[in-house]
Amino acid sequence: MSTKAPKGKGSRAKLREIFYENVGHVLNSDFLREVAGTSEWGRRLRELRNEEGMNIVTHNDRSDLKPGEYLLVDIKPLPFFDRSISKETRAFVLDRNGFTCQMCGAAAGEPHPYDQGRKTRLHIGHIIDKSMGGSDEPSNLRAICSICNEGASNLTLNRPQAIKLLAQVRRAPTSDQLDVLKWIVEKFPLQAAGVLKKFD
Ligand SMILES: [Zn+2]
Repeated sequence: MSTKAPKGKGSRAKLREIFYENVGHVLNSDFLREVAGTSEWGRRLRELRNEEGMNIVTHNDRSDLKPGEYLLVDIKPLPFFDRSISKETRAFVLDRNGFTCQMCGAAAGEPHPYDQGRKTRLHIGHIIDKSMGGSDEPSNLRAICSICNEGASNLTLNRPQAIKLLAQVRRAPTSDQLDVLKWIVEKFPLQAAGVLKKFD
């Protein structure tokens, strides 16, 4: 990894380039300041994220990152920045989905169930990916949080809390709920009998 950036480039371009060269690798603030060559590097970084939709995450987004650490998850821009989806469509889909992540149930702006230190940010995602022929029609769009978008919800080391587990079960199809019921009854037959007595 080289700290030398071509001369004559703006600090934003230098930062963009260094992130693209280091996809999936953690870069720290001292290094980024040096690359950008300006004390305004933080502002340039926010522009990359907010104006260009670069999927750069920090400790606010991922519990495995420390303050001052930055990581470009992948070169695909955040779904929110998919230019083919209009502002109106985005607003419509977010509203239809109740500002709730359609994968994990997290609500926009609230602490994320998988990572309480992180506020839930919602994006618009495709149900059937565009690469698989999915359209930009609202029927193929859904609200999805940045954690689910990164696929990080599967990687979390935290055990799900009961309330989150219940939320997952409630959202599952009946056949899956019955599978869960069967598994629990087999695991806790005495307790299950006790619960059933209430219905006598
Ligand atoms: Zn989610």
